[in-house]
Amino acid sequence: MTAQEIILHCEKQTTQRFANIDAIAYSNQVKVLQAFQNRKLALRHFAPTSGYGYDDVGRDTLSEIFADIFGAEKAIVSPLITSGTHALTLMLFGLLRPGDLMLSITGDVYDTLQGVISQEGTGSLRDFGVHYQKIDLQNGQIDSETVRHTVQTLRPKVVFIQRSRGYNWRNALSIAQIKEACAIVKNACPDSIIAVDNCYGEFVDVEEPIAAGADICAGSMIKNPGGGLAPTGGYIAGKSKWVDAVGYRLTAPGVGTEVGSYAADYRPFYQGLFMAPHVTAQALKGAVLFGAVFSELGYQTLPKWDTAPNDIICSVQFNTQEELIAFCRTIQAVSPVDGHVVPYPWDMPGYSHQVIMAAGTFVQGASIELSADSPIKKPYIAYMQGGLTYEHVRYAAMQCVETILQARKNS
Ligand SMILES: *Cc1c(COP(=O)(O)O)cnc(C)c1O
Repeated sequence: MTAQEIILHCEKQTTQRFANIDAIAYSNQVKVLQAFQNRKLALRHFAPTSGYGYDDVGRDTLSEIFADIFGAEKAIVSPLITSGTHALTLMLFGLLRPGDLMLSITGDVYDTLQGVISQEGTGSLRDFGVHYQKIDLQNGQIDSETVRHTVQTLRPKVVFIQRSRGYNWRNALSIAQIKEACAIVKNACPDSIIAVDNCYGEFVDVEEPIAAGADICAGSMIKNPGGGLAPTGGYIAGKSKWVDAVGYRLTAPGVGTEVGSYAADYRPFYQGLFMAPHVTAQALKGAVLFGAVFSELGYQTLPKWDTAPNDIICSVQFNTQEELIAFCRTIQAVSPVDGHVVPYPWDMPGYSHQVIMAAGTFVQGASIELSADSPIKKPYIAYMQGGLTYEHVRYAAMQCVETILQARKNS
């Protein structure tokens, strides 16, 4: 088959899967629209502010709309939050005090959070006397019995759930799985705060983790909820009491979310949030197509294209480092920005292995835009995600197939 034929064949296979993704996007679009209308969004909310940012209605209304969409009592959406890691750090430092225990029930936390928890001498949670334990997943599932028993006996202050896969060969957790885990934790110790790393999970399903029983969640605005338009930022959403505690870390104890100005305008945050259900659906379809195409070519992928995706990522397992690097270079080469640039593996801050990243994106490093990244280690897994339009991802898939067919012909 030619590259063109492979793509068409895979698109035929994925018709029903795409229809399911569209149905979720529709439900989320209506939810988002209604939140905008209920809060009477107006042009004045886009206006920039300066200095302390007292009574910044753009900031406050954005946070209220976000909370409504996430089924949360309160939210913070802020351009002052530099990344997903920063948002998650604020969440953890807001909730945990010296002597407290944080228990991850989804195994190791995301690479950049490992230092936040335990790197000595950096002002990590460990430096402040916070204890940390983890319970590994069993075949990609939460180990319910161990979780029940551990939570009951240790009564952790925070139980931590990572929804997306990170750099692991596993699927993201579904909202149904998160719901089940929350019920087990709350049953075993009602006082434990359930905190979710929601990166890459927003708008993938019709509910968010708060509706599934979590107390608080956090993520990045240059992933799904920024719709490709938010220029920076992060969010935290959940119970008022806990979001207020996080607000005291974001600015200052006792000051919280009363301050925080933004000298550019807020329109891209609002417009991006409005676009987010659709853009997330584009990325999901792209990930499903990549899954179908690469399994057609004989590679292992996660998730399998015929199962519901729980995040926007497609993991592809390559045979060699060369194949992996070639894949990332193809993704870079089909990018609208820096398409002429060749990515190399490098020592990125916060990661323990060299990482190669393809991100020819309008917003630097924004992985809701088509991008791929991979730590250089065995097994050679590339994590591909994003795409503002399905057409762009489709074109990228076509180029990847061409490259592989060409290499096979030459060898
Ligand atoms: C991306 C990601 C993060 C960190 O986000 P950054 O914005 O890169 O700091 C944390 N957890 C998960 C699961 C992620 O995918």
